[in-house]
Amino acid sequence: MKGENPSDFPIIFFSIPFEPDYERVLLILKKWKIEPLREKRTYPVIVAGGAATILNPRPLLPFFDAILIGEAEEIFKNAIWVYKEKEQLLKLLAQKEWAIVPLQKEKATRAYLQDLSKTKAYSAIASEHSLFKMHLIEIQRGCPRKCRFCLLGHAYLPPRFVPFDTLKDLINAGKKSFNSIGFVGSAILSHPEIMDILNFAARYFERFSFSSMGLSELVKNPALFKIMKQKGVKTITIAPETGKSLRKSINKDYDDAEILELLHIMEKERFMSLKLYFMIGLPGETPENVFEIAELLNTIQKNFKGSIRVTVSIFIPKFHTPLQDAIFSDKKDIKEKLKILRSIKLKRVHINLPSFHHAKIEALSARGDEHFGLALYKKVFFGEPLKRNIIPEKYLYNKDFIEKLIKTHPVKTGTTETFIKREKQKYLNGRLTPICQPDFCRLCGICKTPVR
Ligand code: SF4
Repeated sequence: MKGENPSDFPIIFFSIPFEPDYERVLLILKKWKIEPLREKRTYPVIVAGGAATILNPRPLLPFFDAILIGEAEEIFKNAIWVYKEKEQLLKLLAQKEWAIVPLQKEKATRAYLQDLSKTKAYSAIASEHSLFKMHLIEIQRGCPRKCRFCLLGHAYLPPRFVPFDTLKDLINAGKKSFNSIGFVGSAILSHPEIMDILNFAARYFERFSFSSMGLSELVKNPALFKIMKQKGVKTITIAPETGKSLRKSINKDYDDAEILELLHIMEKERFMSLKLYFMIGLPGETPENVFEIAELLNTIQKNFKGSIRVTVSIFIPKFHTPLQDAIFSDKKDIKEKLKILRSIKLKRVHINLPSFHHAKIEALSARGDEHFGLALYKKVFFGEPLKRNIIPEKYLYNKDFIEKLIKTHPVKTGTTETFIKREKQKYLNGRLTPICQPDFCRLCGICKTPVR
């Protein structure tokens, strides 16, 4: 962008991955001196895409001329992107089922690529200024494990894998630019050809990095440890998320014994650094459930001599997931649970505890509507506190209002309402749903969706 004024471009695309980025987009527009309000602006045309737009596009409606729902390969293959006048472009977009065009078409269905052999998702521009100094390749999309709080296991189905033959080209593409390679995906180790991929990449790269690790895959495949060790991976990261009693409710299919088995393998293979993720504030969670987390950490400390780092977050209810209608925890409840976690005497465990304030803003962004978007605008441009323009509690605790937001959500992801409701019931009953098997499973309604 050096030497160019962003406001001189006819069209600007934003990819918005996380809810807190709604505010960052407004800060960027302010910095670039671009009129943020769609109705007051003629050019540039401003278009949004990215995971946060599938989750909740509503806060963006006052600012964006169009919001594109789904995966870029499907959306950008359309010839409509050959530059056209604004009105003509928006009219054409309004005919696409994956586009939201405010005032013309306010509902959309997610577009996704059925066959990932047609994708080329890798860091195509190698630069010393890039955030990750490594060659990144995406090897998988849509999580087959379907944890009940998680968007990736519900709004990105079916699980799809980039075939090894396609990945060979993507791996080769970065071998001259970087010494390190990063494998991207929400369930990388469940790729059916994972060992072929890693062995092939090992010929060209000195170091590996993984964006996710699944405990069950780690325990079942000790060969993974050998190659990870050769390639400089030092830390094993897992996300039990909660204590043993609620783990089945969130659809995690392993118990504490399996975690201990992992520790045993780690010590045997000389991996001396463990990182764990937990969350508090899940629906129905009691102080006893939080004590179970403390108990598990105590057991881990006794059974593992290496370094142990723990990050705890606060549960945020997300649209499209079985826990979408959950009530966000109040401050008193979280305070009590944080007190439990602070009181445990774990000498060798380094715990990172969450901020209630930040979680509340994230929860508001995940549920917010156009009024919330305008309140963010007044905060960024005029310094007005959010509370002056909205009642935050309404989005977090008013059941009728939340129900209405769910019923009128502008995005269809492809999973059926019945599936989501059944999964909610299974959360309450502590019952598991099996890992995806697209060849014969018809549980969520996606796998019978015709190929577009
Ligand atoms: S239909 Fe079954 S296999 Fe296919 S995405 Fe849904 S849950 Fe997974």
